[in-house]
Amino acid sequence: MAKIFCVANQKGGVGKTTTTVNLAAGLAKVGQRVLMVDLDPQGNATMGSGIDKRQLKLTVYDVLLESASVAEAKVRSDKGGFDVLGANRELAGAEVELVDVERREQRLKTALAAAGSDYDFVLVDCPPSLSMLTLNGLCAAHGVIVPMQCEYFALEGLTDLVNTIKQVHANLNRDLKIIGLLRVMFDPRITLQQQVSEQLKAHFKDKVFNTVIPRNVRLAEAPSYGLPGVVFDPAARGSTAYVDFAAEMVERIKTM
Ligand code: ADP
Ligand code: MG
Repeated sequence: MAKIFCVANQKGGVGKTTTTVNLAAGLAKVGQRVLMVDLDPQGNATMGSGIDKRQLKLTVYDVLLESASVAEAKVRSDKGGFDVLGANRELAGAEVELVDVERREQRLKTALAAAGSDYDFVLVDCPPSLSMLTLNGLCAAHGVIVPMQCEYFALEGLTDLVNTIKQVHANLNRDLKIIGLLRVMFDPRITLQQQVSEQLKAHFKDKVFNTVIPRNVRLAEAPSYGLPGVVFDPAARGSTAYVDFAAEMVERIKTM
């Protein structure tokens, strides 16, 4: 059965989508069967995988409302080498439409259970909030990957996320744990970033992934070509780092 990971951090612009798309492509490169789920109504992960969100007939919205299965709604990212359960603006309405339904935070978990044997990894790109959508991601997951920039306020935001994950663990999903903190957009020339990185390692120890993702403009350029950075420019430093991260994740799940 697939291992399911949420890429979450309630801050926007911290590299969630970049991490989800490039980890998906990196895992595909090392031979893993991957489903990427876009849980953000902005649909950036969908577009960044080369899927036009405006052309989708079925999306994760239909899956959450139980009018389609994952098998029916998924599409293939040929360039990325993985399947995509896409999202577009329609998903913003799900928040309200789910208010009155039973087990509303378990909808994604139930849907993925039916598709779990088709994949080794399911990666869920969460929106920048602790909303019902993110809650669906956290309830479905075995673990959370937290991308973060090594900046002063990054540590502050982490407390809220850690508390939310603790609450979900206690009340809704006993499987859930933080798999690791991923240092992204890292610039070793900046002393503060080095200091925060050291603090992170001192405090969270083996919960900090060994791989560090550097700041690399090629990763930022790739989505405008509808490609994961890992595919757009495989030799770029950011791309090789994400492939290293994929290998680290493959090792991690062996001990889960
Ligand atoms: P989030 O999904 O958390 O909002 P994104 O993945 O969309 O964050 O990243 C925010 C911005 O930073 C985007 O413009 C993205 O291209 C850019 N970015 C992300 N990671 C890197 C990186 N390692 N190097 C350079 N730019 C990056
Ligand atoms: Mg995003």
